[in-house]
Amino acid sequence: MNTASLPRVSLLRGETPLHPLPRYSAALGHSGILLKRDDVMTLGMGGNKVRSLEFWLGEAKARGCDVVLVCGLPPSNLCRLTAAACCAVGLECRILHNGEAPHPGEAETGNQLLNRLMGVQRIYLGAVDEHARTRAAHDYADALRAEGRTPYLIGDEVTGALGYFEAARELALQCARDGVDLRHVVISASAGPTESGLMFGLAHFMPQVRVHLISVEYDETQFWHIAEEIFAGLRERVHLDVQPRQNARFYADWLGEGYGVPTAESIDAVRQLAGLEGVFMETTYNAKTLAGLRGLIARSDLPQNETVCLWHTGGAPALFGQAAALCAPPNC
Ligand SMILES: *Cc1c(COP(=O)(O)O)cnc(C)c1O
Repeated sequence: MNTASLPRVSLLRGETPLHPLPRYSAALGHSGILLKRDDVMTLGMGGNKVRSLEFWLGEAKARGCDVVLVCGLPPSNLCRLTAAACCAVGLECRILHNGEAPHPGEAETGNQLLNRLMGVQRIYLGAVDEHARTRAAHDYADALRAEGRTPYLIGDEVTGALGYFEAARELALQCARDGVDLRHVVISASAGPTESGLMFGLAHFMPQVRVHLISVEYDETQFWHIAEEIFAGLRERVHLDVQPRQNARFYADWLGEGYGVPTAESIDAVRQLAGLEGVFMETTYNAKTLAGLRGLIARSDLPQNETVCLWHTGGAPALFGQAAALCAPPNC
């Protein structure tokens, strides 16, 4: 039931805030919406990937690796936070982007600007799909090994999920300390490690909590296939036999046209939260989850008198690259 024996580096410097959203709750006619602020961390402008990186980089160090590889689109939060964590622990980081290099002299923004400031090496693969990107990463790792280097490739889902198993423990402690009778958690459902680790941890530490997963990427069958594999890995790693799926509900109702494509209701939800609470969310993940929270309250899937925690997974720097969607008519 413990992760204490697993390799981990310390990146968080304490817990992230959990606080009420009084004006937003009142606007939605709900008695208590709390926000878990994984966008508020000291490292690299924060975000959910920091919790996973504690275990990924722990594993990299335990294996004696001397260079960390990470793959993602140019605006990826994962790439920015991997670079930041590597800077902080003194490991070389190389980013492989499936996308085109910036034009010479181009003023980069968002995560790309932050990557530039950190001075990490960026390799552009062009507009290839994720399979081609993964192949390229393995080839790149082989080439490094031939040079005598020891690369670590970021992304093992089970290792990454350990960070969110620990996040569930953190939330349980916060609720106990603050006297919060938490009944629901609402979080984005995407590639898996974050929400699967959290579901697994909550099923153990807070079995009274129901997890509401708002899809921003996959349909229900695809999602549970990924999540069940992560659960199986976690059962072995932390020696707990919990069945998280019993406590969870999955909704694809707010996905719209798919991953990364904003919906009108998500943009409206972002504005409402910003205007009522001064809290910002980007459009790929949290905006759709916010629209989902609003919809679940409206149709009473979230009873108005049961305390709910919305999990902010970060990504605010990506917002600056999303101006076109946020400012296009009829949104402006
Ligand atoms: C990566 C990311 C997610 C999704 O996390 P997964 O573990 O891949 O499901 C959610 N929100 C933000 C801001 C992210 O960067």
